[in-house]
Amino acid sequence: MGESGLLEKFAAVCGENNILPGGAAGGKYLRDVLGQTEGRALAVLKPENAAQVSKILKLCARTKTPAVPQGGNTGYRGGCIPDKSGRAVVVSMENMRGAPKICGGEMRAAAGCVLADLQDAAAAAGFLFPLNLGAKESCQIGGNLAANAGGLNFLRYGGARELCAGLDAVLPNGEIINLPSAPRKNNSGYDLKNLLIGGEGTLGIITAAALKLFPPPKIRAAAFAAAENIERALELFYLCQEKTGGALECCEVMPRFLYALVQKHFPEIPPPFSSPPPLAVLVEAADAGVELREALAEALKKKIITDAALPVSEKQRRLFWQFRENAPEATRREGKWQKTDVCLPLEHLADFCAAARKFFAAEDSDGAHILEFGHLGDGNLHLSARPKGRAPEAEPAAAEKLQTGIWELVLEFGGAFSAEHGIGRTHAGALRRYKNPAAYAAMRAVKSALDPENIMNPGVMFLD
Ligand code: FAD
Repeated sequence: MGESGLLEKFAAVCGENNILPGGAAGGKYLRDVLGQTEGRALAVLKPENAAQVSKILKLCARTKTPAVPQGGNTGYRGGCIPDKSGRAVVVSMENMRGAPKICGGEMRAAAGCVLADLQDAAAAAGFLFPLNLGAKESCQIGGNLAANAGGLNFLRYGGARELCAGLDAVLPNGEIINLPSAPRKNNSGYDLKNLLIGGEGTLGIITAAALKLFPPPKIRAAAFAAAENIERALELFYLCQEKTGGALECCEVMPRFLYALVQKHFPEIPPPFSSPPPLAVLVEAADAGVELREALAEALKKKIITDAALPVSEKQRRLFWQFRENAPEATRREGKWQKTDVCLPLEHLADFCAAARKFFAAEDSDGAHILEFGHLGDGNLHLSARPKGRAPEAEPAAAEKLQTGIWELVLEFGGAFSAEHGIGRTHAGALRRYKNPAAYAAMRAVKSALDPENIMNPGVMFLD
């Protein structure tokens, strides 16, 4: 079938208004949020329901047309961007939204619902939906699940996987499957829900989800603390968890250089300390304000931390968060960084950071700015580096060497080279290199069994 015949068939499935020929699609659909991956498409399709998604995938399977699911296009690994061949259709989920239904302590939402809207809907009904990320105003719940997003409250509630009770999806052959949340106990075979979660659109398209809701905390207490280094920050984390009975919702770190970057690029946000501490630690606890204050007082007394700033109002608490949430944007405004998303067992985190600093120093005689930044309580750092005096993009080979060196260090310390940002297109080579070979072969076998024509997101997760 020729290109125009194919376009006509796709238009007949999802309606003339819901198809955008590739040439007219533009960067919103064809370039990733970091500007690192750019592709071409035959068309962008915007189905309105699962039946249309099913027909699209059946047509894709019959005509061997690659299908690339796309949520809010906020992923960091280029997984929702087609390759440059121009053969693929992007299946955008932006028309699959609407008011979620809240019932029995669960929220049922279509895959295209934007995360912030779901948080608001849960709050309006007196619940908390705790998945929370900096991209919440754009990312979609389908994308969150496909990427198994972690985010800021992972420490207490887990990530997208833990927060999902049930799923509807369309498999690569166009079959619709329902994996409901009820009954709660259901040991009837393989856990397909958890294969699709984190599957990055390689095993099918998620069309709806049942999400777990929680009672919201009555009061959230936050504080910024100043610590000398990662060891001290970890001591603070353990002390706060002990004193609050495990009520911390997050424990985030920002090193001095990054703190100063946020001050530079966001002068309108008042910083918690007048001068940047070696390491700023943001902790937040649910319904344990008194206990958190006691933990901070003890930490000061024991010299685990050198200073603490407690917000005096809800407005100031939000400003603390703005200071933290604008950190990635502050680094972006400064230029390109070699960024990683690694996770270490907490007991090895400090030694790993020391080894990483040594490694950077040995690689670069000018030295490098190194940001030990991210979700300390989860052991998940977005360790970023920028050689002093030049940007990593000036020497891609050197940047690649830095990244590989860090990943190998991560593995030596028993960590994961990808923590919450997934594999996508950019890390498919690393997955093949670093995944246990038997586990990698099993993953390939699952992919071939469910998608024998390799139409679902080819080039994502697996190189070929
Ligand atoms: P997309 O980027 O559109 O797609 C991601 C992957 O899922 C792709 O492989 C795509 O093909 C697939 N996909 C999308 N929708 C579907 C579907 N319905 N069915 C099947 N497959 C689908 N991530 C974190 O984990 N934690 C963070 O703290 C975090 N912070 C961020 C902050 C900022 C400012 C930004 C820009 C990104 C951040 N991210 C974070 C990364 C990103 O927001 C998440 O990965 C998010 O879950 C992606 O959702 P999305 O809807 O944008 O998906």
